Amino acid sequence: MLVEFTPEQIMFRDAVRDFCAREITREYVRECDRERRPPREVYDKLGKMGWLGINIAEEHGGSGGGAVEVAILLEELGRSFLDLAFWVFRAVTWGGLAIGRDGQDDLKRAVLPKIADGTTTVCFSLTEPEAGSDAAAISLTATEDGDDFILNGQKVFTSGFKASDLDVVACRTATGEKKHHGITLFVVDTDAPGVTYTAMETLGHWPLGTAHVFFDDVRVSKSRMLGTLHNGWNDNAVYLRYERLCLSAARTGASKAALADSIEYAQQRSQFDQPISKFQAVSHRLAEMQMKTEISEALVYRYAALLDRDEATVRDAAILKLYACEAYKEVADDGLQVLGGYGYTMEYDLQRHYRESRLGVIGAGTSDVQRNIIARTMGL
Ligand SMILES: Cc1cc2nc3c(=O)[nH]c(=O)nc-3n(C[C@H](O)[C@H](O)[C@H](O)COP(=O)(O)OP(=O)(O)OC[C@H]3O[C@@H](n4cnc5c(N)ncnc54)[C@H](O)[C@@H]3O)c2cc1C
Repeated sequence: MLVEFTPEQIMFRDAVRDFCAREITREYVRECDRERRPPREVYDKLGKMGWLGINIAEEHGGSGGGAVEVAILLEELGRSFLDLAFWVFRAVTWGGLAIGRDGQDDLKRAVLPKIADGTTTVCFSLTEPEAGSDAAAISLTATEDGDDFILNGQKVFTSGFKASDLDVVACRTATGEKKHHGITLFVVDTDAPGVTYTAMETLGHWPLGTAHVFFDDVRVSKSRMLGTLHNGWNDNAVYLRYERLCLSAARTGASKAALADSIEYAQQRSQFDQPISKFQAVSHRLAEMQMKTEISEALVYRYAALLDRDEATVRDAAILKLYACEAYKEVADDGLQVLGGYGYTMEYDLQRHYRESRLGVIGAGTSDVQRNIIARTMGL
């Protein structure tokens, strides 16, 4: 299925592209990366542009856009600054979608306008030390106590925690025969009494970072529950399918950036009295990178259009996530090779793409898990 942008979507894409060219310099990205500092200045400007509320309903201060608009925004941001795109992905997935779809009215009124203008930021805690790919094995408990629930346990790899005001936390509210039953999601203040965290040192994702978060008798009002009690697994499945779009769109943008840098370098760098782009080994590598990036882009907008028509399947989501993330990893790896020794230095951005692209095939369901999902839908 070919996706044609409407004139409004083209205007929107061009506006985001102009914004990125103006506000996100290469030096700014490198500085945030080096200093492990969230790009707060640009995030605030995105709020002022109204783009953080892109999928939030108009009555709550957003613009009520669909999945194609979200994909456009994240692809363009990902091309300039992947970690910034990830920050925005959290606002649209755990804010606009999760809270917007399943939050109680008071919560929506209180937080959605602030997520839309960037004054409130969001992250997500599913993974635990003993529950990674087997996400339904979570054990952090939420125990009912009057008008509240009390949370006890820990989460790992909560990305963006240090820069977030709210954390959407998946909790165990019941134990039974089926571990997928008895999971409930709560929206927790990151500075609530009893919440502490330590930063996890990682290969990449430095500006936003990731954290080990501890919940020690953390009291959360029932009004902060998303969806219905014990049904969080099913609601979360909807959010995760949207997450796959967001992460794939951002990484498709990043693939384009890695490809553009590699082409430019190959045309400028001479060896044996000619640009290295004239060597077939190099031009074929670049051709493969181009092909993978174009396929990722096509899959992103195909999937976004399917989501907007409510026709996207679990398999569509898994194929998109698997392909786009593996493609970015391969594009970054090949791009670094095109730059030779310089690709390995901190002077060029290919090393960052190389580091960042490794996360894609691990986070939000590893590539193996995506293959399992695809195989299952084939009856295997
Ligand atoms: C930088 C970073 C940021 C993250 N951000 C977040 C976040 O914000 N919120 C959050 O909740 N989580 C986050 N995660 C967690 C991420 O989603 C998990 O790391 C991922 O789901 C894999 O879980 P695991 O690391 O425990 O690996 P494991 O599940 O232990 O897997 C280890 C290996 O075994 C393989 N494997 C496991 N089960 C199967 C199977 N059934 N079939 C085939 N192979 C299998 C995996 O593919 C992998 O290769 C983040 C992770 C990282 C590294």
